[in-house]
Amino acid sequence: MAYYSKRSVKEHVYQDTMVWQCSACHCWSRKEFVTAEEPVCPLCSSAMVEEMKNIRVE
Ligand SMILES: [Zn+2]
Repeated sequence: MAYYSKRSVKEHVYQDTMVWQCSACHCWSRKEFVTAEEPVCPLCSSAMVEEMKNIRVE
């Protein structure tokens, strides 16, 4: 009874994830990878803000 589609190509999965987004440039990092409470951007040393971002997780 089971029906399997022919679609075998693995599709990318995107998910809303909390990230630290740099306030000055495009640099961002997943929050779960950041341990600092108030991280600064590794590229430009600006303050980073928490933000929800739809990113690829798979
Ligand atoms: Zn930056």
